[in-house]
Amino acid sequence: MKDLSTIWIKLSPFEKERKFLNLLLLCTVALSSPTFADTVQKLEWQKGETLLTFFEKMGVPASLYYNLDREEKELADEIRAGAQYYLTLDSKGSLRHALIPINEELQIHIYKEGDYKLKLEPIAYDKFEDAFAISLDSSPYQDIIEATHNPKLAGEFVSAFRNSINFSRSIRKGDRLAIIYEQKVRMGEFFGDPKVKAMVIETRGRRHYVFFFDGRYYDQHGKELKQFFLKKPLSRIRITSRFTLRRWHPVLHRYRAHLGVDFGARYGTPVRAAGRGKVVFVGRKGGYGKVVMIYHGSGYKTLYAHLSRFKRGLRVGKRVRQGEVIGYVGSTGISTGPHLHFGLYKNNKAINPLRVVRIANSQLQGKKLREFKKLVKRYKAQIDKLLGEPKPPKRLEIVKEDIQYLGGDDGKG
Ligand SMILES: [Zn+2]
Repeated sequence: MKDLSTIWIKLSPFEKERKFLNLLLLCTVALSSPTFADTVQKLEWQKGETLLTFFEKMGVPASLYYNLDREEKELADEIRAGAQYYLTLDSKGSLRHALIPINEELQIHIYKEGDYKLKLEPIAYDKFEDAFAISLDSSPYQDIIEATHNPKLAGEFVSAFRNSINFSRSIRKGDRLAIIYEQKVRMGEFFGDPKVKAMVIETRGRRHYVFFFDGRYYDQHGKELKQFFLKKPLSRIRITSRFTLRRWHPVLHRYRAHLGVDFGARYGTPVRAAGRGKVVFVGRKGGYGKVVMIYHGSGYKTLYAHLSRFKRGLRVGKRVRQGEVIGYVGSTGISTGPHLHFGLYKNNKAINPLRVVRIANSQLQGKKLREFKKLVKRYKAQIDKLLGEPKPPKRLEIVKEDIQYLGGDDGKG
């Protein structure tokens, strides 16, 4: 091994034959035969780096970028600074594979197969479901971290209850809480955001429940627990493409993602700030064309893309009110018709804007309410039982560096 970030992997013929995603190589091998070995490097995506500058650095022709389609180009702009990615280099040091994540589900795979090619591929991970109950000692946040070693789960708990309970005033030592959730694990670490199904906190003998349904949190009666609300960015809403972290495109035979919502609208329609905040970006952004980004506080940022033009005088640092016009619908950065691509980010991670933007009623009704009641019945029984017989959470104890390597010498796996 040359240094800690360089690991040798030997690919046996058997492994070459295995399918792409089934291949999870535990990288404990330091092998002596460089002829069959690729060097694997784990790196961090730098601030200001783009797919184009990366191509230039690695000797990948720029035409590969220019030939991407609209969705792919949009996704290329979603690589986050600080994201960890992997390269494999052949013995001459030229790029064989690059795996660059764009979100929790999908990664950009660049590989050499004669020419360089690019494909979006799912990220492999494991997940576990757990249900636990604990007694409170200092605060829900601290105690959840202590018990699970999972700060994101603690954060999720606190933010779900934020508007219904004042933790510092109403919680006493010995109060209890229970959580049912699902967590992804990758390479021995928690990966992505926990998916909470139900939570309860019991304080002074009263139980406060939260259930996750249809992308939002509700109390046990189906009333939505408001967290942070944005208004729609256009006065009339027509959704043409929804948010998805990963989907299989049956016609193109490719994996895709869409990290925002597209609203169909006429060229020149005014685009409004979804909430009050501070403008943090005005300018061009690759496949997104002309873009405005606004920071709203609490880690939330909105993005408005493909604009034909900006509102006159709009610049970075300017404060805007909710509903204020910031630009006009267009089709910059793309070759298809005019529409608004509206993105929402929490702590720089794309989330579904329709979870936060107020479009529907905040009280579940009709068929949705009946579905919700079924879910409540199931989880409430489970969570009440947990409070009766507290059970400690599962913890992650694996601390091993392993590397997922996809594919063999020919790039096909
Ligand atoms: Zn879009």
